[in-house]
Parts: sequence; C-alpha cells; structure tokens
Amino acid sequence: MKYQDWASLDRHLAQVWGCRICPTVEPPPVAARPDFWPRLMLVGQAPGPREVVEQRPFAYTAGSRLFAWFNRLGVSEEEFRRRVWMCAVIRCFPGRAPQGGDRVPSPLEIANCAPYLEEEIQLIRPATVLAVGQLAIKKFLPENVPLQERVGKAFPVSHEAIEFDVIPLPHPSGRSTWLVKKENQELLNRALELLRGSVGWRETFG
Ligand code: SF4
Repeated sequence: MKYQDWASLDRHLAQVWGCRICPTVEPPPVAARPDFWPRLMLVGQAPGPREVVEQRPFAYTAGSRLFAWFNRLGVSEEEFRRRVWMCAVIRCFPGRAPQGGDRVPSPLEIANCAPYLEEEIQLIRPATVLAVGQLAIKKFLPENVPLQERVGKAFPVSHEAIEFDVIPLPHPSGRSTWLVKKENQELLNRALELLRGSVGWRETFG
C-alpha cells in the first residue's frame, strides 16, 4: 500500500481553489477531489465555463465523449471520477477565443499553473498518466510531433525521480476533426487497449 497523504492533498486543493494569480483567466479554478487515493491521473487542457459552474472537469459535451471512451472499458463516469485524479494544464477557464471555442492558454498562464501539477505528481506518484490533447501531451513529451505519432503508444517517463507511463489521447472536443479519419479512430482504440492494460488502470479498476 502506497502512503496516502490526504492532509497534504487537501491543503494543496485549498491552495488551488484560492489561486487568483492570472488576471487574464476567469476564476474560480476547477479542482476535483476523488473519493479514493488515485493511482491514475488524467491531465486535460483547461476547464470551460460549464466546468467552472459545476466544479467538475469535463462536465459538458467533451466530457460525454471522453467518458464514452472509458465506458467501452467497462467504467462509468461516476466511478472514474471517484477514483482518478482529474486535473488540467491550467485550472481556470481561459475565456473565449475571438474565432470561437475556448481560448488556448497562454505560455504565461501555463507557467503560472505548472507548479500545481508538479506538486500533484510528487504527492500522488501516479503509476499512469493519461494526457488528453496536445497541450497536456506536451507537458510530458515536449517534442513537437503530430498527434498520430503519440496516440496509440505508451511512453515511460521519469519525472523528478518519479516514474510513470504516459498514455496520450486526442482531445474529445466536438470541434476537433482528428477523429473523423478511420486510421485515427484505430489509434484511439489502440490507446484505450493500452490504458486497459496499464498499471494505473489495473490498480484502479482491476
Ligand atoms: S490558471 Fe492556474 S495559476 Fe492561473 S489563476 Fe487559475 S489556478 Fe491560478
């Protein structure tokens, strides 16, 4: 049994909820607390406005698509939320982009928010990290390569002496056209099978 330091994790969450460092985003931050000590971490891009109101990551249409993928592995949305650490590259809604959709977080916002993810990795020591979308993938695999070369593979990462596997997934936003191609759907299927066999998934739902 791994050491489960809930007191530190709750102090950390209180700090995230109270953060107002970035004047360019729309607070409050979204940070969810699972019911069980997590072994699996999911990192997304940033919450949208619905997530802020509900204080739940992936609470709207992108979430429906994301949880449908996990349903295929036999896990319901509520069960996933109770057992997985769900977080994001930035924790506040960045606002709307002029061309529609949510604005991509700026490098400064990403840098401001990065220490929260770092602290969570140190506290939780996940066995597996699901990186959802290019921005989250680049946190762990910084080289600029197309999604096709990331999805469908698992990447062993050593991060500040903590070792875990990163499994990239495409962003489930309805605005993304990446999954329209049949070969990309096949990559997603492969990624989900890798997830099913991963240490983090097996220790969480096995
Ligand atoms: S985006 Fe992150 S660093 Fe910026 S105000 Fe929100 S929680 Fe704080």
